[in-house]
Amino acid sequence: MSFWQKIKSGLMTFMAGRHGSDNLGMFTLFTGLALSLLGSIFGIGLLSLLGFALYIITIFRMFSRNNEARIKENQKYIQLTSQWKTRWTQFVKRQKNKKDYKYFRCPKCKLLLRLKRGSGEKDITCVRCGHQFHKKA
Ligand SMILES: [Zn+2]
Repeated sequence: MSFWQKIKSGLMTFMAGRHGSDNLGMFTLFTGLALSLLGSIFGIGLLSLLGFALYIITIFRMFSRNNEARIKENQKYIQLTSQWKTRWTQFVKRQKNKKDYKYFRCPKCKLLLRLKRGSGEKDITCVRCGHQFHKKA
């Protein structure tokens, strides 16, 4: 067994039954990194301390053997951020297709809809709630 294989197998034995990294872990790690970097650039000790606290949380979660609790935390994190991720993805998509489509929301359920530009006035039926309204593209 080579040196690296020994390290790899040792690490695998050590990490067996431990939670490891997940979405929340990546978030706390990179936020901690950003905070400690900003803290040292601007000389703000509190930010560095906060970043360090996030490292501790990241390490604690990665090496934790209480998988159930860590999975619950991660699910809560995903649930909280998925709404913002969807909004961001929609925003980027809208900016990209701005020239070809006109975007608007259903007046009743606020679902984001689009019409091809230059297609004139149309009667629209919302795909989610069935509300009918008139729109010009
Ligand atoms: Zn609707």
